[in-house]
Amino acid sequence: MDTRIDIKSLTLPELTEEIIGMGEKGFRAGQMYQWMHQKLARGFAEMTNLSQAFRRQCEEHFSYTALNVVQVQESKLDGTRKYLFALEDGNVVESVWMKYRHGNSVCISSQVGCRMGCRFCASTLDGLERNLLPSEMLDQIYSIQRLTGERVSNVVVMGTGEPLDNYDNLLTFLEILTGENGLNISQRNVTVSTCGLVPKMRELAERQLQITLALSLHATTDEKRRKLMPIANRYSIEELMEACRYYFEKTGRRITFEYSLVGGVNDTDRDAEELIALAKPLCCHVNLIPVNPIKERDFVQSEALRIQAFRNKLEKSKINVTIRREMGRDIDGACGQLRRKHTESLQTQEEN
Ligand code: SAH
Repeated sequence: MDTRIDIKSLTLPELTEEIIGMGEKGFRAGQMYQWMHQKLARGFAEMTNLSQAFRRQCEEHFSYTALNVVQVQESKLDGTRKYLFALEDGNVVESVWMKYRHGNSVCISSQVGCRMGCRFCASTLDGLERNLLPSEMLDQIYSIQRLTGERVSNVVVMGTGEPLDNYDNLLTFLEILTGENGLNISQRNVTVSTCGLVPKMRELAERQLQITLALSLHATTDEKRRKLMPIANRYSIEELMEACRYYFEKTGRRITFEYSLVGGVNDTDRDAEELIALAKPLCCHVNLIPVNPIKERDFVQSEALRIQAFRNKLEKSKINVTIRREMGRDIDGACGQLRRKHTESLQTQEEN
């Protein structure tokens, strides 16, 4: 087992302490941090202002994560690119690059697989493999910025995995990503999406970060939510709403509700009215997502007219609502579909 320290997961003060412990001058840490988190170096070899001897010493002391591209798919519809990356241990994760008028957004994974079990989601079908390290979350953004040559301005933690189930690593990731010695992405341009782990939502609130917290609600009654999301057996909608209120109170940031519309399941006028009743007191933004059907389940998208009617109802009640543009529908756009296809094809090769 590799017992070396994962250098890209260290904050600047932590790295400084390590470097001093190795008998080097503290300012070297600042130089190395800049190589890693601003110049996006892929290894010590690129750090040309450090001596050969010190770089060799670092190789022994630290591990240095880097991703390798396995596959890139580009949408012909909107230029969205989906990357499948291999981690050091051979696991693969997917990340998405989206170009908007207001800048470039990257959607990253926070875990290899997921253990939350949401019924409509492809990422969770094989359970959780492992958590991603802070460095491996950063690497997804760094690799994409290097590959596209374009600056990333927004980050959404909405790929595979439940970020609040990998809480400590998520916090370190956020600290490095939004710190002035790193890419310095504004906290306001970062969104973290959760299926609703109430105690962690509260802990996060106490940090008083300026990031946006998105809650995957998807249903307005506990009974209905339990049919879609096993986590609803653990936390009630009432507890969730209290946690949302607390988050708003502590941070002043409005919550986003994500609501995936599933035909005949959660898309009636009644559902819309109940959603309004939940969103209104919290001044929530509501993001409607037409469900992206996966082949393992028989959920279907709501009819286009139904989606419009649902949206109109919310708008009439002055709810701030958007329908998520379906970016990259032609390239296995739904969470976890690309990774799953890849793993499945490896399995078939092994069987043959
Ligand atoms: N674990 C986090 C992030 C996961 S994915 C969470 O649950 O929020 C980001 C969003 O996509 C979530 O709202 C998730 O419920 C939704 N989602 C996953 N699979 C989907 C699908 N097939 N169609 C529509 N939305 C989906």
